[in-house]
Amino acid sequence: MAHIEIPARLAARPQYHGMPVPWIAIWAPDEPPQFGANDGKRTRDAFVLRLCALCGQKLEYRFAFIGSYRECYDTRTFNEPAMCIECALYAAAVCPYLVTEGYVARHQPRFKKSKLLNPEDAPPPRRRDDWHGLYVTRSYEVVPSRDMIGEPVAKAAKAIEIRSLEC
Ligand SMILES: [Zn+2]
Repeated sequence: MAHIEIPARLAARPQYHGMPVPWIAIWAPDEPPQFGANDGKRTRDAFVLRLCALCGQKLEYRFAFIGSYRECYDTRTFNEPAMCIECALYAAAVCPYLVTEGYVARHQPRFKKSKLLNPEDAPPPRRRDDWHGLYVTRSYEVVPSRDMIGEPVAKAAKAIEIRSLEC
């Protein structure tokens, strides 16, 4: 198994069986954390207060969303809060789907360099349902979700870059 270094901010989170518990994960006292299930209040706080979904700390100047093709290229609207770039890279390295139950660190974080895209002029990657990208940006607006009434989501500003995540 590849060893993946936990970024410093994320290393400050409590761990469960050696893996950092995402700040937004549901975690009831005396129970195992629910990796992949988001606490509603923390999710809202992350959007509104601009906190990293994984480490819970304030986002820096540049940060990232992880999203589907549609989110990255069509809507720029993300249902999952933003992350520090380092936290997002770590999460992407432990695919499938960020940090999930039964997590095994199987991959080193890496990108298809040929697919580093300038959203302004590059052709988009092929539309695959399992495609995920790292959407790097500097700001977003909090807007109401169309799918989940009353819940906030992020409408991101133009991307600085969009990278294909290899999971
Ligand atoms: Zn973070």
